[in-house]
Amino acid sequence: MKEIILDHPMVKHKISILRNEKTSTKEFRELVAEIASLLCYEALKDAKLKKIKVKTPMAETTGYQVDENDYAFVPILRAGMGMVDGVLEVMPNAKIGHIGLYRNEETLEPVKYYCKLPKNANKKEVFLLDPMLATGGSGSAAIEMLKKDGVKKIKFLCVIAAPCGIERIKKDHPDVQIYCAQLDEKLNDIGYIVPGLGDAGDRIYGTK
Ligand code: URA
Repeated sequence: MKEIILDHPMVKHKISILRNEKTSTKEFRELVAEIASLLCYEALKDAKLKKIKVKTPMAETTGYQVDENDYAFVPILRAGMGMVDGVLEVMPNAKIGHIGLYRNEETLEPVKYYCKLPKNANKKEVFLLDPMLATGGSGSAAIEMLKKDGVKKIKFLCVIAAPCGIERIKKDHPDVQIYCAQLDEKLNDIGYIVPGLGDAGDRIYGTK
């Protein structure tokens, strides 16, 4: 499945502010949320619509409804949390799960430390949230966890992706559609995206 990259002047504008090392924590947090909203709009382009009747002050007409029960958002802790407010702007009634992973320093493999998904997650379409798709290791492991819990339809939403991260997800999970706001050049030798924006978690929470 070909990744979907948002191609829009305002997205490029916002990403450039995010990249700037001088951008404040507040502005960084707000922009991550805004970009997450835009990614979520795009990822909902194929949402099923139910026809309903709507009475305006003038006439009765046909309206449309998306069933928000059909969706769940699952941020990968901790940076993925920065995207939650943004996706909830678009779909305020979707349920939220959480996945926590850390990297084993010897094997460099992601290890699960937390997973709490909404009830009936297996019947929902899940948008997995992580602002930085770097090696793809934790994204792939998180998708594996969702699939083990029976989730059948997964979309991966990220702000910036490295080509190798996209390739890893496509190889491990060809059924998962990736949405990203920006495709960057490469990873450096410590696994950071270049040019990227640094450590997304630290910049969202002001921890550095
Ligand atoms: N995680 C980040 O926060 N930044 C990167 O560049 C790569 C992974």
